[in-house]
Amino acid sequence: EQDREVLTWELYGQAARELAQTVADSGFVPDVVLGIARGGLIPAGSLAYALDCKNLFTISVEFYTGVDSRLDVPVMLPPFLNAHDLDEASVLVVDDVADTGRTLELVAEFCSGHVRDLQTAVLYEKPQSVITCDHVWKRTSRWINFPWSTQPPVTSRSGVVDA
Ligand code: 5GP
Repeated sequence: EQDREVLTWELYGQAARELAQTVADSGFVPDVVLGIARGGLIPAGSLAYALDCKNLFTISVEFYTGVDSRLDVPVMLPPFLNAHDLDEASVLVVDDVADTGRTLELVAEFCSGHVRDLQTAVLYEKPQSVITCDHVWKRTSRWINFPWSTQPPVTSRSGVVDA
């Protein structure tokens, strides 16, 4: 498909290493990696390992409900992160893609006034993003198929719903 940007698992492995290398080369050394659930969690885990950072936090934000269909505004979902846990920390906020950039903007706002330093890292950034990310693996304006969300959820083959 030409209208989609396709990231395979194999290419993802390379992308995550290259993104981590970009962060390392910049001299930014995060105390905390903060992954935005769910799309940012796999990249956040990969970056935390590659950057040798053991403090891995998550924050859950919902915006998109389907291909190009989204809520009016991004909303934070429980369990809520305590912003005081980020006091005086250098935080690397990680997501899969900055599309409108409003999810990252919300998270950056939530962290501001607490963190010492905040930088953002994404696999993809789109031209319309309101946030200019500090670290980007690739730029595209197409809809991206990520390896973790392209296939539908698995369903039970036994037909048993209640275990
Ligand atoms: P934003 O707030 O930057 O518009 O996008 C937030 C979230 O929407 C992303 O973290 C991602 O989960 C989802 N999203 C935005 N654009 C795409 C896309 O092109 N492909 C997929 N699979 N998800 C997207």
